[in-house]
Amino acid sequence: MKIDKNNFPEMIAAGIGQRRSSRQVLVSWKDRCVAIGGDAPVCVQSMTNTDTVDVIATAIQVKTLAVAGSELVRITVNTPQAAAAVPEIRDQLDRMGIDVPLVGDFHYNGHTLLRDYPDCAQALSKYRINPGNVGQGARRDGQFAQMIEVACQYQKPVRIGVNWGSLDQDLLARMMDDNARLSQPYDSQYVMYEALIVSALESAHRAEMLGLSREAIILSCKVSGVQDLIAVYRDLARRCDYPLHLGLTEAGMGSKGIVASTAALAVLLQEGIGDTIRVSLTPDPGGARDKEVLVAQEILQTIGLRQFAPMVIACPGCGRTTSTVFQSLAMRIQDYLREQMPIWKKQHPGVERMHVAVMGCIVNGPGESKQADIGISLPGSGETPAAPVFIDGVKVKTLRGERIAEEFQEIVDNYVRTRYIAAIN
Ligand code: SF4
Repeated sequence: MKIDKNNFPEMIAAGIGQRRSSRQVLVSWKDRCVAIGGDAPVCVQSMTNTDTVDVIATAIQVKTLAVAGSELVRITVNTPQAAAAVPEIRDQLDRMGIDVPLVGDFHYNGHTLLRDYPDCAQALSKYRINPGNVGQGARRDGQFAQMIEVACQYQKPVRIGVNWGSLDQDLLARMMDDNARLSQPYDSQYVMYEALIVSALESAHRAEMLGLSREAIILSCKVSGVQDLIAVYRDLARRCDYPLHLGLTEAGMGSKGIVASTAALAVLLQEGIGDTIRVSLTPDPGGARDKEVLVAQEILQTIGLRQFAPMVIACPGCGRTTSTVFQSLAMRIQDYLREQMPIWKKQHPGVERMHVAVMGCIVNGPGESKQADIGISLPGSGETPAAPVFIDGVKVKTLRGERIAEEFQEIVDNYVRTRYIAAIN
């Protein structure tokens, strides 16, 4: 078969989608500034599930999320006690050396909390306002205006976060009525999509009319269905240039939540849509909250948009591997690499792009290991009990015996120390 180089540009164009340009919003706390939109990398966010009134528990969870890599952390501000706790949480974090910006999540009573607790308004770096939950009827506009006025006063950006579980019911009813009067009404699903988008765009427009800078507005329109989310965000991105926060709301538990979020976000990110993401996983009872940060990072990294930690490539195993040695080694190496990253990312810049292969047998083991920066091909059943190690495509060593895992970890360590220091000298 002849290689036709004329096909290459098309193949390259089929790769990562061009980021759509949007305005850029800066979210800051003291010296820490996170850019969202424009040419900034897609930002990872998360949210606590502690009672905000519990200052210590909330500060500890914010720290956990920030250390895991969350670049903004949202906290619920739902009561006067929670609003009073916010500046204490901020102080606690500052004392712990955690400068991640905090986002306040407001529903129903945000206008009074922000007015009555100015220290809370100041300690937060961004406000999330849900236009469906700012008040009913005649009170709605005034309460929305109060929140925007506080945002202007403290120069805080705002995410206008629409959610179809709390969509402005007056707006939806009006649009449904208008649709019903058409000679050929649209499917109610499309009216719902349109209501989500109109709610976000009209609220943003109103915020601007009230004096909020266009560079202080981020939009989101979250839904819980993958196809719904893709349809809504494609249209939203076409109709405005505000930075967009992506997330599949109520994604669910375990693999379902991860797969659904990944399916939806990957399509949109590939099309250049989305400036910041959150993966809304329901943790297992007692499960780690920071898993949503890890999943968000892995979505961005596997798509090729950002690098956070070295990647471990491991085969699934099959009948050629009768032991769990290679699975244990793959897991051990993956955990080790992640644990080292807080230190390595300072001392060994570029290490986050490293690929490590841990393979189960000779069929694909040597080939995949040669493609990686560093790889090991463990012996499958019936093979000589020896594990060749490859560095930068060259076989450098063969490990044998009981200490293969420890020795391979030492080789990885040594590779990082020499390869990534050399890269900056
Ligand atoms: S590399 Fe070997 S053990 Fe792994 S899946 Fe392929 S054939 Fe099976």
